[in-house]
Amino acid sequence: MSDREDIGDATREEEVTDGAMAAVCAAGHPDEDAAGGERAGPRETAAASETAFSPEPVAPETVASAGGAGGERRAEAAESEDAASTRPAAIALILLGLVILAVTAFSTPWQVLSGGPPDPARDFSAAQLARARAFDAATTLPSYIALALTIIIAGILVATPFSARVLGRLKGPWWVRVVLGTLVITALVELVRWPLGIWVETILRDFGLSTQDWAAWAGDRLKNLGVEAVLLCVMLLALVALARKVRRWWIPAAVGAFALTVVTSFVYPVVFEPLFNDFSSMREGPLRTNLLEMAERDGVPVEDVLVADASRRTTALNAYVSGFGATRRIVVYDTLLQAPQREVELVVAHELGHAKHDDVLYGTLVGALGAGFGAIALFLLIRPLRRRTGIASIADPRSVGVVMGLMTFGSLFMGPAQNVISRHIEARADVHALDLTGDPAMFIAMQKRLAITNISDLSPDAVEYVLYASHPSGPERIAMARAWAKLNGVPEP
Ligand SMILES: [Zn+2]
Repeated sequence: MSDREDIGDATREEEVTDGAMAAVCAAGHPDEDAAGGERAGPRETAAASETAFSPEPVAPETVASAGGAGGERRAEAAESEDAASTRPAAIALILLGLVILAVTAFSTPWQVLSGGPPDPARDFSAAQLARARAFDAATTLPSYIALALTIIIAGILVATPFSARVLGRLKGPWWVRVVLGTLVITALVELVRWPLGIWVETILRDFGLSTQDWAAWAGDRLKNLGVEAVLLCVMLLALVALARKVRRWWIPAAVGAFALTVVTSFVYPVVFEPLFNDFSSMREGPLRTNLLEMAERDGVPVEDVLVADASRRTTALNAYVSGFGATRRIVVYDTLLQAPQREVELVVAHELGHAKHDDVLYGTLVGALGAGFGAIALFLLIRPLRRRTGIASIADPRSVGVVMGLMTFGSLFMGPAQNVISRHIEARADVHALDLTGDPAMFIAMQKRLAITNISDLSPDAVEYVLYASHPSGPERIAMARAWAKLNGVPEP
């Protein structure tokens, strides 16, 4: 699961860090990323995997067309050998799946305070509701087209010989072909998605959410693509190298995927975030003093609060926690500093909730276990796909397209489960903010500001909720604050 939680989403900021290991918070609506399912960040990147048996690629045709009785016997022998070598991997996959279920069952706050039914009309004007509906209507089509394209492209990669044919033209040593193959597939996918990105950016501008010009937009997008490509290349090089050397490569691949996810999440704030934003310490003054005092009172000592220059690309409001241990940090968008001080305190109190419960650390742990699971699943899946794809083994450098397709499907399937867990974690952080500040009226004011400024979806339909909602909706969060007030004997705002 993702260890990033978002407050405000939309916009490229998300895109930039999607799939990576940050933790943000606040209101949200499906952004182009979430919508696009273009979740090929380090997390999936880490979900590497394997190839079955022999390091030497065996062309599927060899198996298929080995005519005659001798050929059949050989095929049978190969089948039973296959079964023998996949059994330990299948058992490991089931066990790891159970571990992941146990960890998520244990670490997810299932019993958070729940509010009454959300009532958007109570807190938002007709004009605000109409604007949210208009934005939702404008972004829905590109979102679903992006999702459909993602599924079609991944389907082509895992179910046809397309990538084997295209990548078969590459020349050079195996590692050169792995790198070039990864870059070719990444570039082809981006080429298809680029017009959709322009479409969504145009909508963001129409609604006043984007502050970028096209050069900055393209620069961001290319930088993001470069980071993804580098991480993918590292992962796929390691994967193919293992498959060429080790028969049961799923074991080191699973361990490696786990480690790569943990390391990426840990260094994310210091290595990747600075590529996209400048960060500065919040300047001295009453706000900073109050925030640090509040953290102290909360038992979550924070040395600094960082401000990101998010206004270079968006008007959206957001804040997040990223990293863990020595790299943990609380970041607020500079756009948020326009809000009244008490509201900023409420946002930071929510982030302190994430810090206090080690949400990023648990998210990273689950993500890393999921990456290991993906590696083993890849080992088991590549063989049934060999006839369709023309790839017999991960040891074949042409396999990178199939691996990328499988990773995309893996992250698509995991998205809704991640969202369910994330919504509970966000609700717990909201309760934490209310407990810490005891101010549900200010909490509601803050939620309204977030929802209105970020043009959040105030009544997401069931499909949007399942696919994209990493946070409860604004009206749900407001209803929860009212329930908190009632429970704590505070006048209901
Ligand atoms: Zn949050």
